[in-house]
Amino acid sequence: MMSMCKQLQPTVHIPPCGLNLEAFNSRRQKNKVVIVMGATGTGKSRLSVDLATLFPAEIINSDKMQVYEGLDIVTNKITVEEQRGVPHHLLGMVKNPNADFDAEDFCDEASEAIDTITDRDRLPIIAGGSNSFIEHLVDGLDYSFRAKFECLFLWVDVSMPVLHTYVSDRVDEMVRNGMVEEVRRMFDPDASYNRGIRRAIGVPEFDRYFRDEMLYDERTRARVLQEAFNEIKDNTCKLACRQLGKIHRLRSRDGWSLHRLDATEVYRRRGKGAEQTWKRHVAAPSAAIVEQFLRN
Ligand code: ATP
Repeated sequence: MMSMCKQLQPTVHIPPCGLNLEAFNSRRQKNKVVIVMGATGTGKSRLSVDLATLFPAEIINSDKMQVYEGLDIVTNKITVEEQRGVPHHLLGMVKNPNADFDAEDFCDEASEAIDTITDRDRLPIIAGGSNSFIEHLVDGLDYSFRAKFECLFLWVDVSMPVLHTYVSDRVDEMVRNGMVEEVRRMFDPDASYNRGIRRAIGVPEFDRYFRDEMLYDERTRARVLQEAFNEIKDNTCKLACRQLGKIHRLRSRDGWSLHRLDATEVYRRRGKGAEQTWKRHVAAPSAAIVEQFLRN
């Protein structure tokens, strides 16, 4: 509770080109909302924070696993440092790991957060990979959302083979950061993997290992653990493909107007040069699109 209150303290942001959201608000007819979409690992969180440091904005998480408290490594939650002082909503807010937080719950909580943010004359930025949540919010409420809010959709896209390499490497990084121990603390042989936070990729895959590790010799233990890592990589790649498929469907079948930002080059370069490439290909064009959106 304390940390949530602390996160909600207003922070000072300097809008680019002297943009003042309050001035826009007084002129506009409808409240405006920015929605950052993209498959897992594409950089949605980073882009939303980049934007929120340029415009007076707050971020609403729309990743269905990150709404739960705990498993920060496995669910790849943005760290406090990465949040750069930008208030985040719906992040780790569900304390009960077995609770089912569905699209309806998301709509209720997100709508409340949007009202809070717009009341503060700030721009809500919704960011996360759970397209069913976003779809339900935007098109599922008898179109009342679109009647009330003007939406800008940003889609961070990365070519699938490049993204697959990146998310596989990210699993190795998670292992180095303590993923196995984090999941072990949550392990319950009687709990269901079909509800709550235990549905997260990176939890069911360790079931066999945690159940039987004491029975294995060292070689078998290492092999079973490696199989779990491989399965997590595989499931993460499949998730990315499914998420991308849904984005294509929203665009082609449902007519969503998405601004595509191609971040592929950023992931090809990694390390040196990646920072500049991110700015050039993703951050700067997105900021220009948002600026235009707020001006209209
Ligand atoms: P679906 O209808 O398939 O659940 P969705 O759009 O509602 O799709 P997604 O974000 O694509 O939601 O999540 C689908 C599944 O992927 C989740 O149920 C979970 O197993 C896994 N998943 C999603 N986000 C994460 C995450 N941050 N960490 C681990 N696993 C995740």
